Amino acid sequence: MITLPKGTKDVLPENSYKWQFVERVARETAKTFNAKEIRTPTFEHTEVFSRGVGETTDIVNKEMYTFLDKGGRSITLKPEGTAGVVRSFVESGLYAGALPLKTYYLTPCFRYERPQAGRLREFHQFGVEFFGADDAGFDAEVILLAKTFLDNLGVKNITLYINSIGCKECRKAYHQALKEYLQANYDDLCDLCKDRFDKNPMRILDCKNENCKKITENAPSILDYLCSDCKAHFEKVKSLLNAAGVEYKIDAKIVRGLDYYVRTVFEFVSENIGAQGTVLGGGRYDGLVEQFGGGKIPGIGFAAGIERLLLLLESAESIEKQDVLTLFVAPMGDEARAKAFEIVSAIRKKGIIADTDYMNRGIKAQFKYADKLGAKYVAVIGSDELSRGIVKLKNMTSGEEKEVCADELSEHLK
Ligand code: ATP
Ligand code: MG
Repeated sequence: MITLPKGTKDVLPENSYKWQFVERVARETAKTFNAKEIRTPTFEHTEVFSRGVGETTDIVNKEMYTFLDKGGRSITLKPEGTAGVVRSFVESGLYAGALPLKTYYLTPCFRYERPQAGRLREFHQFGVEFFGADDAGFDAEVILLAKTFLDNLGVKNITLYINSIGCKECRKAYHQALKEYLQANYDDLCDLCKDRFDKNPMRILDCKNENCKKITENAPSILDYLCSDCKAHFEKVKSLLNAAGVEYKIDAKIVRGLDYYVRTVFEFVSENIGAQGTVLGGGRYDGLVEQFGGGKIPGIGFAAGIERLLLLLESAESIEKQDVLTLFVAPMGDEARAKAFEIVSAIRKKGIIADTDYMNRGIKAQFKYADKLGAKYVAVIGSDELSRGIVKLKNMTSGEEKEVCADELSEHLK
C-alpha cells in the first residue's frame, strides 16, 4: 500500500463538511469587513520568503520546502501567506491603486517540521492582509476581524494576547538592553539563539528551547523601550479594543515568528489543545511592501491555522451537519431504472439532493444502502408504479408510506 507522506493528511468525505464550515465562516466574516479574496501561487521564487519572511526565522532557517526545478531555479513551497501576497500586491501594481486595500486568503502552507498534534508539514491557513493605513484603527479592525471569525465559528475559551514590538528606532535601545541582559548566559543559549544574538536578539524571546525560555524569563520588556509614537499607537489600539468590548491580555514576550513585524503583534491562544495552542497570530509589517519595491505602504494581517481550529471545534456543536440526502429513488427492473434516472435528474434541477441505484441491487439492499446514507425519503418504482405514473414514497424517519404522482414528487419532500 502506498501511504501518505509524513505530516500530511487526507480530508475524507465524512469530514469535509467541517472544512467547508470553517472556510465558509472565514469568507463570510472577511466579506463583512469589506475584504476581498486574493490567490497567489503555491510556490514562489525562494527569495520571496528568504527576504520576505526573514533570515533569522525558524521558517527560513530550517522549515522550508526548497528545491531546484528543471530549469535550475530555486523554488519554495509557500510556508506562509503574507510574503506571496505582498509580492503580488507590488508586482500587480495594486499598491498604486485605491488604498486601503483589504485582502484575505485560504491556502495550503508547507513547513518541514516534526509532525505532532496540531503540527503538520502541509497545513492550511485562513489569513488577511490589509494595506495602506498606519492608523491604530487599522490594527484594531484586523484584531476585531480575527475575534469575529473565532466567535462566528463558536470557538470558546480562547485568550487574545497583544504586544507592541516597537519600530526600528525604539528597538535599537531595546536590543542593546536585551543583549546586555543575555550576555551573562550567552554560552547556555541554543545554537540558533547564539546566531540570533547579533542578527535579531528579540527573536530569542520566541525560542521554544526550555533553556532559552528560562534564560529569558526576567528579560527586560520591550514595552519599557517604546518611543513616544509607538507608545501612543499602542495606547490607541488598546483603547479601541476596549471600546469594542474585545478582551485581551498584554504579553511583552510575544514577538511573533516572522522578521517583518513592527508595533502591534497579537496571538489567540487556546488552553484546550495542548502545546500547539496558538491558533491565530498576526501583526503589523510596515516595512515589508517597501522591501518588495512597492514604496512606503504599511500593512497588517494575521493567519489562523485551520487544522488547529478544527481540533478546537471537534467537540463543538456549532458545526453545521453535512448536507443530507433528501431522496433516494429505488427502482425495480430495467424500465423502472430508466425512470429513476429521469426522476433524480429532474429533482436535482430543483437543487434537491437526490441519488439512485447503480449496483442493480434488490429492493431490500437498496433500502439498506439508503438508510446508511441517511436518506430522508425513499421512492420505490416497480412495474405497477411505472404504469400508473406514480412512486411509493417512504418517509424514513416516520416510516409513513404514500403513493404520489411521479411528476409532483418534489412537492412531497420536506
Ligand atoms: P508555532 O509557534 O506553533 O510554530 P508559528 O509562529 O510558526 O506557530 P505562524 O507562522 O504565525 O505560526 O502561523 C500562523 C498559524 O498557522 C499558527 O498560529 C498555527 O495555527 C498555524 N501553524 C503554523 N505552523 C503549523 C504547522 N506546522 N501545522 C499546523 N498549523 C500550523
Ligand atoms: Mg512555527
